Amino acid sequence: MLFSKVIDHAELKAKLIGNIREGRVPHAQLLVGPRGSGNLPLALAYAQYLLCEDKGVVDACGECPSCMQMAKLEHPDLHLAFPIFFTDKVKTCDAFLADWRREVLAEPYLDIELWRDKLESENKQLRMGVDIAQEIQRKLSMKSFRGGCKVMLIWLPELMDAAAANKLLKVLEEPEPSTVFLLVSNDAEQLLATILSRAQLTKVPALHPEAVADALRGRFPDLGETEARAIALRSEGDMLEAVDMAGKGEEELFVFFRDWLRACFRKEVVAAVDFGEGFQKLGRERQKSLVRYGLYLIRQCVLQWQQVPELVRVLGQEQEFVLNFSKVLNERNADGIRRELETAHVHIERNANAKVLFMDMSYRMMGLLRA
Ligand SMILES: [Zn+2]
Repeated sequence: MLFSKVIDHAELKAKLIGNIREGRVPHAQLLVGPRGSGNLPLALAYAQYLLCEDKGVVDACGECPSCMQMAKLEHPDLHLAFPIFFTDKVKTCDAFLADWRREVLAEPYLDIELWRDKLESENKQLRMGVDIAQEIQRKLSMKSFRGGCKVMLIWLPELMDAAAANKLLKVLEEPEPSTVFLLVSNDAEQLLATILSRAQLTKVPALHPEAVADALRGRFPDLGETEARAIALRSEGDMLEAVDMAGKGEEELFVFFRDWLRACFRKEVVAAVDFGEGFQKLGRERQKSLVRYGLYLIRQCVLQWQQVPELVRVLGQEQEFVLNFSKVLNERNADGIRRELETAHVHIERNANAKVLFMDMSYRMMGLLRA
C-alpha cells in the first residue's frame, strides 16, 4: 500500500516518513486508532516504505521488486499475524494467510467483524493463542530474504490470550537484529503494560469528514456531493462505516429509525411487532449499524436539546428529524434512551434474539418518550 492511497492523515504520514528517512525507526511501533481510522493501511504503507528499494521523499516508488511484492502483500520479509478461529488442527495464521491478504487488499479498512464474516465463522471466536506467538518467533528467526529489514505486522494484538501476549513480550525484549514490529490496535488499553512500554505509540485519530466524503466519491462515482457529505458526517470518521452506509443505501437506516421512534412515541403496539420483525430481517451486522446510527442521531438530538446547535452535524431530512425529536427529550429520558440503544448493541453482539430484543426495547422506549 502506498501512502498516497491512505486516506487523510497528512501530518502523521509526514512524521512517519521523516522518521524513516532520518534513520529513527523504532524496534516496535504501536499504531492505535478507532475502527475505520486507517491504522492498518498506515502500517502497510509504512512497511512498504521501509522495504522499498528506491524510496522517494514522500512515498515508496511503487515499481521496484519490493514494491511489486508489497502490492500483493507477498513480500517475503513482511510477516503477518492476526486473529483466526481455531480448529483441532489449525492454530496458526499460515493457513489463513491467503484469506487475510485477499480481504485486506479488497478492504484495507478491514475490522474484526468484517474479517469474521469473510471467514464465515459467524459464531466462532477469533483468537490469537500461544501457537501464533511461537509462529511469530519462528518466522523472525529466519534470515531476511531480500537483505533488508524484516517487518512483523501484528493486527489486533489486544486479542492475544495471556500466554501469547507473554510470549510476544519475550520476543520484544530480545529483538532479532533488523526486525521492525508494527502492532496495529483498536484498543491499546487491553494490551499488557509491559508490551506498551516496549513500543513507540502512534495515535491514529478518526478521519476528517471532508476526507471521508472525498474518498467515498472516489469509490462510489454515482454518489452525490451532499449525500457523500451527509454520510461522512454520520460515519464520524469511520471509513468502514461510511462505505457500509454508501453501499447499502443510507436512506434505509434513517427511515427505519425515524418511523420506529414515531411509532414508539404514538404507543403503536402492533407496529412494534412489525418493527421487531423488520429488525430481525436486517441481519446482525446491519442491526448493529442501525443501532450505532440511532445512537449518533440521538446524540445530535441531545446537542440540539441542550441548545448547542453549533455542534449538531446533520443535513437534509436528518436535520428536520433532529429539530422535531429534540423537543421530546428532557432530563428524565435523554440518558435512558441512549442507554437502551447501547445495551441493545451489546446484546446483538452476544447473539440475542433480535426480534424479542427489539420489541422489548420498543416497549421501554414508549415509556421513556412519554416520561
Ligand atoms: Zn519501491
